[in-house]
Amino acid sequence: MLRVSTAGFRGSFRTFVRYHSHSHGHSHTHAANAYLQTTNLRDPGVRITWIGLLANVGMAAGKGAGGIIFHSQSLIADAIHAVSDLVSDFLTLATVSVAKKPVTKAFPNGYGRIETMGAFGVAALLLIAGTSMGYSSILTIAEFALGTESTFVHYFSMLPLGHHDHGKPLQMAEWNAMWIALASIGIKEALFQATNRIGKKQNSQVLIANAWHHRVDCLASAVSVASISGGQLLGLTWLDPFGGLIISGMIIRAGIAPLKQAISELAGNTTVANSSDTAERVQDEATLLVERLLPGWQLERVLLEQYGSNYVATVFISSPSKRTALG
Ligand SMILES: [Zn+2]
Repeated sequence: MLRVSTAGFRGSFRTFVRYHSHSHGHSHTHAANAYLQTTNLRDPGVRITWIGLLANVGMAAGKGAGGIIFHSQSLIADAIHAVSDLVSDFLTLATVSVAKKPVTKAFPNGYGRIETMGAFGVAALLLIAGTSMGYSSILTIAEFALGTESTFVHYFSMLPLGHHDHGKPLQMAEWNAMWIALASIGIKEALFQATNRIGKKQNSQVLIANAWHHRVDCLASAVSVASISGGQLLGLTWLDPFGGLIISGMIIRAGIAPLKQAISELAGNTTVANSSDTAERVQDEATLLVERLLPGWQLERVLLEQYGSNYVATVFISSPSKRTALG
C-alpha cells in the first residue's frame, strides 16, 4: 500500500514484519520461547526445554506441599515463584500460535499484542503473588516479635493483601523443608548446565536465557536453605518467614521490568523497537526495496511499531522532484 501525499513529493507505506529480535543478557524475564512451540523431541533444545518445564511442575508441587507440611514460609514462597514460571510457560504456548496468525482486515497489524497482554498478565501475577506472600511474612514476623495483640499487628492484619492464620503460634520450619529446597537447587543447577551446554552448541540466545533462568531460580531456593537451617541451628523461628520475605521481594522484582515493558508497548512507545537490532535490519531491507521498486525515490526513515514479537514498519520515502526543489 503506497500512500502518497497530494503534493506528490512525499510518501509512506506500511509493511508487516516478522523478525524475532535477539534477547541479550540474563534477565529473569520470559521471552517468547521458540522451543516450546515445536514438538520435535529429536531436537536436543526442544527436549531440554520440555524436561525443564516438567521438572518445574514436579518441583512446584513438591515445594508447595513440603512448605505447608513442614511449616516453611520460604519454601512456600519458592513454590509460588515456580508456579508463576509455569503459568508463564503455558501462556507462551497458548499465545505464540495466535500471534503468528496472518493479518486480517480487522487486525491489520497482526495479533502480536495478544502475547504482550499475556506478558502483562504474568508480570501482574508476579506482583500480586509477591506482595501477598511478603505481606504474610511480615505479619508472621510481627506477630512473633510484637505479639498478636499489638497495635501494629491489629491494623496491619486488616489490609486486604493476603491470607494469614491470625494468632496461630509460629512453628519452627523443619529440616525436611530444607532438604526439599536443597534438592531443588541440585535439579536446577543440573538443568542450567544441560540447557547452557545445548544453547551454546546451537548458538541459541533463547536457550541460554532459559538456562540462566534456571540458575536465578537456584537463588530463591538457596535463600530458603539458608533461612531454614539458620533458624534450626540458631533457634530463630522468625528466620524462615524472613527468608520468605526476601524471596517475595525477588518475585516482585522479577515482575516489575516485564510489566513496565508491556505497558510501554501497549501505550504505543516506539523507542525500544526503533533502537533494536531489528530496526537496523528493516532499515537495510527497506533501502534495498526502495532502490529496486521505486528507482529515483529515496528512503527518508523507517518507523517501527512493536506488536509482541511482530513489528509493523512505516517506511517514509521522498520523490526525486522534492529533492530537486530543495536542492
Ligand atoms: Zn523463575
